[in-house]
Amino acid sequence: MAITPSTCCYCGVGCGVLIHSDGARVTGVEGDPAHPANHGRLCSKGLALADSCASQSGRALHPELRLTRDAARRRVDWDSALDTVAERLADVIRRHGPDAVAVYASGQLLTEDYYLFNKLTKGLIGSNNIDTNSRLCMSSAVSGYKLALGADGPPTCYQDLDLADCVLLAGSNMAYAHPVLFRRLEAAKAARPDRKWIVVDPRRTDTAALADLHLQIQPGSDVALFNGMLHHLIWEGLIDESYIAAHTEGFDALKRLLRDYAPRQAAGLCGIAEADLTAAAEWFGRSPASLSLYCMGLNQSSHGTAKNLALINLHLAAGQIGRPGAGPFSLTGQPNAMGGREVGGMATMLAAHRDIANPQHRAEVAAHWGVPPERLSDRPGLPAIALFDALKAGRVKAVWIVCTNPAHSLPDLEQARQALAQAEFVIVQDAYADTDTAACADALLPAASWGEKEGTVTNSERRISRVRAAVPPPGEARADGWIAAEVGRRLERLLYPDAPSLFQDCEPAAVFAEHAALTAGRDLDLSGLSHARLERDGPQQWPFPAGAAAGQARRYQDGRFATANGRALFHSTPYRPPADAVNAHYPFRLLTGRLRDQWHGMSRSGRVARLFSHAPEPTLDMHPADAARRGLQAGELVKVESRRGGLVLPLALCEDLPGGCVFAAMHWSGQHLDSGGVNQACSPAVDPQSFQPELKHAAVRVERA
Ligand code: SF4
Repeated sequence: MAITPSTCCYCGVGCGVLIHSDGARVTGVEGDPAHPANHGRLCSKGLALADSCASQSGRALHPELRLTRDAARRRVDWDSALDTVAERLADVIRRHGPDAVAVYASGQLLTEDYYLFNKLTKGLIGSNNIDTNSRLCMSSAVSGYKLALGADGPPTCYQDLDLADCVLLAGSNMAYAHPVLFRRLEAAKAARPDRKWIVVDPRRTDTAALADLHLQIQPGSDVALFNGMLHHLIWEGLIDESYIAAHTEGFDALKRLLRDYAPRQAAGLCGIAEADLTAAAEWFGRSPASLSLYCMGLNQSSHGTAKNLALINLHLAAGQIGRPGAGPFSLTGQPNAMGGREVGGMATMLAAHRDIANPQHRAEVAAHWGVPPERLSDRPGLPAIALFDALKAGRVKAVWIVCTNPAHSLPDLEQARQALAQAEFVIVQDAYADTDTAACADALLPAASWGEKEGTVTNSERRISRVRAAVPPPGEARADGWIAAEVGRRLERLLYPDAPSLFQDCEPAAVFAEHAALTAGRDLDLSGLSHARLERDGPQQWPFPAGAAAGQARRYQDGRFATANGRALFHSTPYRPPADAVNAHYPFRLLTGRLRDQWHGMSRSGRVARLFSHAPEPTLDMHPADAARRGLQAGELVKVESRRGGLVLPLALCEDLPGGCVFAAMHWSGQHLDSGGVNQACSPAVDPQSFQPELKHAAVRVERA
């Protein structure tokens, strides 16, 4: 028997685990008491990891290919699959140029895998068309940090949960989405019950049920709330004038905008009592240390960047940043969305937080990779929604989908499915062969899953942890990085036969070293880290420059930000309603979210029977008064339908929802549900700065099915 330390593969808390195995099978998983993220705690999903490893149902075991769309895929050997993928990509590039190819990857890839895919797309193919499902998850938080503080990444750490005197949770059902951190928050509250909890959420979630103050705002009205709170802070003299003068810019312009957000007006826009808004502002402004924790409720919005900026405005104005227990803290949805951004694995950025539009940045990356600087495109790539639009329109001909299930997770699913049907060539690289997207694959490349491959991930507090292989992958499945490198080597022989290989040493430790060297001198400098250092000293936070003894728990403690002049920037953030307007035909607001025991499209968690005990089937939740008005009964089937499409679900009555809103979980899809997932109804409207779609709000009607 062996015990292998690793990191949970689900959410961005990044809990350490100990994998028990007999060399062939995972026999058990327990929390790692030595890991600083969780100190041995695991949630229901983490505790079921061994069961999900034991279930090999649905695994992709062999490469498969089909040569024409009307043929069935057939099993092939790896050489045939890799040669064909490389030849088809090279053919598209020769006929239509590099931007006719796209990679759509995942915040669940390991950092080393991500690095190789980014290098392959930007350094070999010469296109920035690599985006990931992190676009659906954290991109508004990224835009907010960059615009306000000058660089991506939270300034805070998990210890701040213990130290904050006031905690503002906005758009986060942390009790379900980040359970181990929520337990830590509960323990801090139990130790000091005078600490204030404010929860901002249209639903009375399990998180909201424990709040001192629950602001049950109208969906999408967060900006009005934060603007109203800041108006009150200014009026009551609760801002930190000396911090604003010394460390920020743009406050006067923001003050002019805030004249329109007096607490009564702002509370009216939010649909809450003025006294509740001012109480929240008082607690936030008067507490020695105020921390905000936020997630998809802010990010998955057609004005998600403004929501993030309005919240950061509050912190900057009150001087609630750069101190223990204070600051804006985005909770990462996926286990490695942060690591993906570190390596630049998205369509709108380059490695190590560099910018595509900056010629110096392109030259630095090109030099590191040993390719001509003109190889790196100065054209931004296509973010997720635009990528699939381009696929449908025929501007992108071939797509390589890695470790994600866009035929379930994109909004307006019918468009996504049409895009995949329209493509010339669809490559799906996944551990599972029975996902909605795998059904669309021309080439299916079987990938190793959690517990079967080596690398690192970065959690919500910028902490890098090792992920380790405890058992070999089943069948002929291979690590994602191995597949990327093998295709890369074949493709470069076709495109640049005389050039040195970009994929010489692709072992995870060597790839991490190459990535770390590229961060030297940048805001996220982690050039002092290596696999060997992580083995010796355990998980570490960045920045961690070469020569450092330890990583940095908090950023901006000296009041110097990552902007060109070191000052943080206030942004004027007018309130705008959600894109999809309710009217007489579509009178309900559909809210979507996660359940406690399931993960994303359930390709892993859906194979563990006991994870269905909390919620055995999907439902459409509706307030009893709304149901009574329509003569609907609990348990009967209803059709929920937006301007784009709909699905049939059993109705559940729920007093925790406000009238006029319905709720459905995101997890079920065509694999588990005859009528397809809730994203069929969701809106593809995107935030203009982050390009993140508004998955949290759609106008719908509900009728008896
Ligand atoms: Fe895994 Fe997140 Fe649960 Fe921790 S809180 S065990 S990282 S799912």
